[in-house]
Amino acid sequence: MSALSSARDADDPLAALRAQFQLPGDLVYLDGNSLGALPLAVKEAVRDVVEHQWGEDLISSWNKHDWIRLPMIVGERIAALIGAAPGQVLCTDSISVNLFKLLATALDLNAPRRVILAVEEDFPTDTYIAQGLVELLGDARCELRRVPASEISAALNDEVAVLMLTEVSYRSGERHDMQSLTEAAHAAGALMLWDLAHSAGVIPMALDAWDVDMAVGCGYKYLNGGPGAPAFLYVNKRHHGRASQPLSGWLGHRNPFAFSPDYAAGDGVLRYQAGTPPIVSMVALNAALDMFDQVSVEQIRTKSIALTEYFLQGLESRPLLQSLVCLTPRDASRRGSQVSVAHEHAWGLSQALIEAGVIVDFRAPDILRFGFAPLYNRFADAEKALDILARVMAEERYLEDRFATRPAVT
Ligand SMILES: *Cc1c(COP(=O)(O)O)cnc(C)c1O
Repeated sequence: MSALSSARDADDPLAALRAQFQLPGDLVYLDGNSLGALPLAVKEAVRDVVEHQWGEDLISSWNKHDWIRLPMIVGERIAALIGAAPGQVLCTDSISVNLFKLLATALDLNAPRRVILAVEEDFPTDTYIAQGLVELLGDARCELRRVPASEISAALNDEVAVLMLTEVSYRSGERHDMQSLTEAAHAAGALMLWDLAHSAGVIPMALDAWDVDMAVGCGYKYLNGGPGAPAFLYVNKRHHGRASQPLSGWLGHRNPFAFSPDYAAGDGVLRYQAGTPPIVSMVALNAALDMFDQVSVEQIRTKSIALTEYFLQGLESRPLLQSLVCLTPRDASRRGSQVSVAHEHAWGLSQALIEAGVIVDFRAPDILRFGFAPLYNRFADAEKALDILARVMAEERYLEDRFATRPAVT
C-alpha cells in the first residue's frame, strides 16, 4: 500500500468501524451499493432470534419480543437517517411492492391527474411497476411518461400526478437535487416520490423539511440488512388517512386481530403494511442499523466524497486507465457513493477484477460500477482496486475466454 492511502486511512475518523464487519481478509469489496457487508452484530441478533425467540418462546414472541411492532420500530430508526419525524416510515416489503402501493396512493390523492412522470434509464423495477399499474388501472386512470433527466422540469405540467425519481442513478451514480425537484413538482401541482435505494445511509437528507410526499428505500444496500432485507417506505404525515393503498392485507387493517370480515385501513403508515413481516430478516436489519448509532450520515457522506474523489483522481492520473469513460459527475455534490465507468469490455473487466479479489459489478450493456461504503471501505481499497484495474487493462485480461459467458445474476 502506498504511503498516501495509508495516511488517508490513518486520518479517517471512521476507520475503526470496519472491524465491526465480517470481511474476508484480502478481499476488496466495492459492491456495498448492491449488497452491504455483514455487520458482526447481525450474526448475534439472528442467532438469538432463531435459537431463543423462535426456538424457545415460539408464538409468544409476537408480544414478548415485540415482533408485531418491528416494522414500526425499524421504520423509526430509518426515519432518523432520512430526516423524517416519527410516525411516517414503515419497514416493509420490497421497493417494488412499496412503489406499487405508493404510486397507486399518489394517483388516488391527485386524481383526476393520471400521469406518472419518470426518467428514462431509471432502475428497471421502478418502471416495470409503473407499467403494471398502467395495465391494471387502464389508460384513463394512469399513464407512464418517461423523459430524459434534463427535461424533467419542462415535462412537469398539469397532467402529472406524481414525479417518481431515484435520487442517485444506479447506472451513472449521478445525483438529483431532491429539494429543488420536490419544489418543482409541487409548483406544478404534482406529488413527489423519491426512491432512496442508493441514498439511505450514505447521503444526508431532510424529507420533512423539503416537504417530500413519499419515498421508498432499500434495506440491503448501504443499510447492510442482508440479502433480501425488507425495504422501507415514507409517507408524509400530511397525506395520512387521505387515501388507502390497494394491497389491503390484514396487517394494514385498523384492528387485525378482530378478524372482521371487512377491511378498514389502519392509521398512519401502518395501513401500508399488507401481510406478516419477515421477522428474521427484519431482526437482521435492525441489528445492522446499530452501526448508525455510532456515526452520523453527515460523517459518512464526508468520507464517501473523499473515497470517490480519491478513486476518480486515480482513474484520471493513471495512463493505463484512460480508455475508461467516466459516467459519474466530477462535482462531488452531484454524485452518490459510487463511481461508474463505461468500457466496451466492461463484463470481462468486471470478471477479471473479481477473479483478482476486487468485487465490483457490471450493469448492462457496458457499465462497471465501483461502490464505496464508508462504514467499511478504506482508501487502501480504492488504491488496490486502481492498481489491479491497471494491471488487468495492461494485460488485456478481460479478453480471456473464461469471461465470455454470463451467469443468471450479474
Ligand atoms: C436496488 C434497487 C431496487 C430494488 O428493488 P427491490 O424490489 O427491493 O428488489 C429498486 N430500485 C432501485 C433504484 C434500486 O437501486
